[in-house]
Parts: sequence; C-alpha cells; structure tokens
Amino acid sequence: MDDGKRKVNAWWGVLPLLLGMLLLAGCSGSGNAQGISEDGKLLVTATTGMIGDAAREIGGEHVEVTTLMGPGVDPHLFKASQGDIRKLDRAAVVFYGGLHLEGNMERVLVKMAAQKTVVAVTDDMPRDRLIGSADTGEFDPHVWFDVDLWTVAAETVRDTLIEKDPANAEAYREQGERYLNELKELDTYVRERMLEIPEEGRVLVTAHDAFGYFGRAYEVEVVGLQGISTAAEFGARDVSALRDYLVERNIKAVFVESSLPARSMQAIVAGAAQQGHDVTIGGELFSDAMGEPGTEEGTYIGMIRHNADTIAEALK
Ligand SMILES: [Zn+2]
Repeated sequence: MDDGKRKVNAWWGVLPLLLGMLLLAGCSGSGNAQGISEDGKLLVTATTGMIGDAAREIGGEHVEVTTLMGPGVDPHLFKASQGDIRKLDRAAVVFYGGLHLEGNMERVLVKMAAQKTVVAVTDDMPRDRLIGSADTGEFDPHVWFDVDLWTVAAETVRDTLIEKDPANAEAYREQGERYLNELKELDTYVRERMLEIPEEGRVLVTAHDAFGYFGRAYEVEVVGLQGISTAAEFGARDVSALRDYLVERNIKAVFVESSLPARSMQAIVAGAAQQGHDVTIGGELFSDAMGEPGTEEGTYIGMIRHNADTIAEALK
C-alpha cells in the first residue's frame, strides 16, 4: 500500500514539469518560425566560436550568427542550457563540429536534425584525412588546427548557406572565396613560422591532445598530458612521465591552454625545476575556444596566428 501511494505522489511531482516542457515547446517555435530575423537575416547558430566565425565571414550581412560557446569554454564538457536550446530552436541553420566534439550536446543536435538543417562541419572531410584515436577508435575532433583541412569546413558552411538562402547565393560564393583565400594564406604563414624552429626542438607540449592535426600538418611533434577529450582523467603518473620526458629531451617551454586550467602544466614545470631542468611556460595557446570578441584572437585566423607566433617565439 505504502509503495503505491509513493508512486502516485511521485507522478504528481512530475506533472508541473511536464506541463512546463509542453509550454516551452509551444513557445519556442513562434515568432521566428522560418528562422529569419526581424530585419530579414538568416538566423544561424553555431556551437564553437571557430564555426561561428566561418559563418559570419561567409554569411556577412545576410546572416545573424549566434555562438553558444564563448571564450574559455570547453566543448567536451559543455551542456546546453535552456537559453542555448532556445538559440538552437530559433535558428534556420545549426552548425556544429561533430566527431563527438560536443559530447554532451550530441543527442540534442541529432534530435533537432529531424526538424531543421543541422550540419556537422566535419561531415564533408575525407575520412582518410582524419586522425583516429587508438584508445577510443573514434576520430580526433580538433580538425581546425590543420588550416588546410579546415577549408573543407568553410566550404560546407558556404554550401549550406547557398542551399538555405539561394537568393543571396552570389554573396555567399564571393565571401566564401575571399575567406578561403585568407585561410590559404594563413596555412602558409603557420608553416613558415614553424620552420623557424630548429627541427630537434620542434616539440609542442600541452595539457590535452588538441594539437594532433597541428602537429601533422606543420611537422611538429606533439606531446599531451591528457587524452583527446578533457573529460578523461589524468593522474600523478602522467605528470611525472611528462616531466621526465622534458628533462630527457631538453625541451625549453611548455604551453597552457585557454580552455583548461594551467594547474597541471605548472606542476610539471615545478617538477622539472626540482630536477635542475629549466622549463618555462611558453605562453597560452587557444585550443578549443577562441579569445575575447573584438580582439584579434577572437577570430579563427587571429587565434591560429597567435598560436603559431607563441610557439615559434618560445621554441626557436
Ligand atoms: Zn579538445
């Protein structure tokens, strides 16, 4: 008897919640059912800043881009709030990274794809250009660090905008071409800066393995403390192994990342110093998020240039 009573009570507890969800679902579609802003722009929502930046560059004045993840936000751990869901809901087009970059959001995005255009910008990337992880059997999602590979994402953004908004196709084509040319120049710039570092010292030590594509594209050896996702735990053993490696290879600098606490790298620097080896923190790299809006690092091109400059200056 008691059990039955408790069940009934539990149901009454859930009811307001269900009603609330129904109300939310009812409201969200109204106002911008077509995904067009009041001043006639195509509403685009992107998960990461890098993707939003591509949409803004290529879409120009014809789109209104909202980005869910701001500076310093870790996409691997990001959970969509009610406000984020509304931003996804009102958009005509949603762009995301895919390859499990947005681990906690994937289910929401897949569900949303039944009602609107939801595009993973990695979908058109040839699979043989992706880096696999031996641990998980999945692909490494940090594709934006190979600038040449990232041009495929930019093309996907361009083609999606043309398809959704054919009236402005010409503008998207033109702005797409300009942006792709800028990316080509950026790719050359990064390559040239890395060549300034003597080959034996071209080693990038960072807290998580975000730079695998960077290493492959620009011939830099990459050593990470964590796995591909920041969600993976790391322990004291990883810290001491990395410290020993730094001492052994006589590596001058390690790097911290904008979307991760610097704590782990500081522990390694202190550990190396105890063994009489001087390692400095070479600077902060942008890994999974861009810098503050309005600054140079608040754009994809600025963020990649910042990384290349920081690495080259610390290691050359
Ligand atoms: Zn990452």
